[in-house]
Amino acid sequence: MFDRIVGFIKSRFPDKDFIGLHEPMFIGNEKKYLNEAIDSTYVSSVGEFVNLFERNFADYVGSKYAVAIVNGTSALHLALKVAGVKPNDLVICQSFSFVATANAISYCGAEPCFVDISTETLSLCPIKLKKFLIEKCEVVDNRCIHIESRREISACVPMHTFGHGGKMIELAELCNQFSIVLIEDAAESLGTLIGNKHSGTFGKMGVFSFNGNKIVTSGGGGAIVTDDQDLANKLKYLSTQAKEPHKWDFFHTEIGYNYRLPNINAALLVAQLEQLPYFLESKRKLAAEYKDFFQDDKLPVFFCEPANTRSNYWLNALLMNSLEDRDAFLEFSNANGVMTRPVWKLMTELPMYSDCIHDDQINSQFISERLVNIPSSAREL
Ligand SMILES: *Cc1c(COP(=O)(O)O)cnc(C)c1O
Repeated sequence: MFDRIVGFIKSRFPDKDFIGLHEPMFIGNEKKYLNEAIDSTYVSSVGEFVNLFERNFADYVGSKYAVAIVNGTSALHLALKVAGVKPNDLVICQSFSFVATANAISYCGAEPCFVDISTETLSLCPIKLKKFLIEKCEVVDNRCIHIESRREISACVPMHTFGHGGKMIELAELCNQFSIVLIEDAAESLGTLIGNKHSGTFGKMGVFSFNGNKIVTSGGGGAIVTDDQDLANKLKYLSTQAKEPHKWDFFHTEIGYNYRLPNINAALLVAQLEQLPYFLESKRKLAAEYKDFFQDDKLPVFFCEPANTRSNYWLNALLMNSLEDRDAFLEFSNANGVMTRPVWKLMTELPMYSDCIHDDQINSQFISERLVNIPSSAREL
């Protein structure tokens, strides 16, 4: 059976000896804009490509403001900071996520608090979140307090796993009811729609990543979107060392960060963003071919976009029957020129986060033992 699967994946990428999981594609204006950035000599923290990217990006996702940041992890850190997350707070997130989500929480001096995912979306489960909030928390003076530890839960950071849209309407309603700031980790879900609204635009802020393995890349890069002008200004200010604007003087009012995206990266990103509709079409076509093939009952389950969403299918995923099956398939495919990967180890199993507060994690455990990511790069149409 593994033979059949590997054969099918190879037939989707016929001109490759080794099929990677996700490779970038540069077939638009990337070199042109990079040359323009170099010729302008503005390659660093100021330049027109940064401003152009911010305008184009906000327009694309349908939010009022976008702030370009040096990478997704720093963007998460700054978004949490601006949301008011302070030392000793708790922040709800998935243990079934890339470690950056929890690390950004730690940079604020806060601690992650892990709530389970839904098997339908692979993202934070609203039923589990509701259970956790009702059973373990209380709202006092518009602040959500975890009863046992008496610590404040100041934010919640659901993550749209592999580009599949989470249950944002339900999650937003719960966060609102419990006075928790909602920030979306949309690092993997650029282009994904929930209903007809873009992922990243349901909470107070949405965070994106443009690392080399994401759907569009600037080498390294990130962005925060928001509809709140004060927040956007604050984000821009803090990401540029909290420097007061002045022709020559250096005055800083608080501790800032060097988190601004360099203009040279923004040049690459502006070109990549132009290609996004093409990448989405190409990736959704590949997903449709996988879906068709894996329809067969004898084959593993191909993970499809949740109801009422349009996924960017950033990374395609299979659900195997068992942990043993998963490991055997990883072994076989990687030995035969097809790159496949298991999902991240749950953060409840990482040494620095193993003592964090968490709920039962039944779905996270089940999925992480069975899921395998398969090749997902955009192909020329
Ligand atoms: C990629 C990613 C990040 C971090 O982005 P970087 O740009 O690599 O710092 C954060 N969260 C998730 C879920 C990611 O996949």
